[in-house]
Amino acid sequence: MKTSEWLKKYDITLKKKFGQNFLNSNNIPLKIAEKSGLTKNDYVIEIGPGAGTLTEELLKSAEAVHSFEIDYTLIPLLKDRFKDYNNFILYNIDFLEYNLSEFNEKHPVYIANIPYNISSPILEKIFTETPDFKYAVLMVQKEFGERVAAISGKDYSPLSIFVQTYCNVKKLIDVPSSNFIPQPKIDSVVIKLEPHNLYGKTDKKFFDFVHRCFSQRRKTIKNNLKNFCGNSDEILDKLEISPMTRPENISVDNYIKMFDLYKKMNP
Ligand code: SAH
Repeated sequence: MKTSEWLKKYDITLKKKFGQNFLNSNNIPLKIAEKSGLTKNDYVIEIGPGAGTLTEELLKSAEAVHSFEIDYTLIPLLKDRFKDYNNFILYNIDFLEYNLSEFNEKHPVYIANIPYNISSPILEKIFTETPDFKYAVLMVQKEFGERVAAISGKDYSPLSIFVQTYCNVKKLIDVPSSNFIPQPKIDSVVIKLEPHNLYGKTDKKFFDFVHRCFSQRRKTIKNNLKNFCGNSDEILDKLEISPMTRPENISVDNYIKMFDLYKKMNP
């Protein structure tokens, strides 16, 4: 049975407050499963299964699929739709409220078309509670995907640096808005995040530091740094970064190095 028929059968009206734009295409879930590199051994966590269009594809290819759905009105539909799959585990709970640490040792794979309004908190939660996750393939708003992937310039932001300190970012699929019901005004993109472990564990203080460096994006790095750090000249000089550089033109690598020096000089 198709998703539209399931929605009719259970008389579901979609809710804006939960960011409900459901996939209305079998082709996109198929592409996601294929391009993500999903295997039979993978232990999948899905955020927001909705009516299960993507879930169905994941269940065919993975060892287990743990799906977190906040909207209780979708639960009977999902249970019915996947009653023949014994690898389907459904949680009727707010994903942001659930402690994921128990999944870490399974090296979970995240695959989801996520609720776009909570994209940043979802990433933060994945990275901090399951740092040993294998990879994450997420459908996000196109602009969000561009910010995550940017390596300099106007889209480059603390978000880009936050993600890239943990992961390599790859764009997998462009998804035009015509693939959803109701059809949203925005386009989407599927990205893959794979942890690289280049920088070991980064702490919250690093991200506070980055946020402060970006607090006045149009100003130079020196101007931003000197607001909270007495050694701005010395740090920039040591790393051979011109004081006139804008924060959006400094690499992830250099932010890590700047923070190391900052920590040493301000213990
Ligand atoms: N993956 C489905 C639905 C995407 S819409 C599809 O592609 O068709 C986003 C889904 O996330 C909705 O089902 C919504 O109810 C659910 N959702 C929103 N906020 C959530 C949260 N905090 N925790 C779990 N699910 C959430």
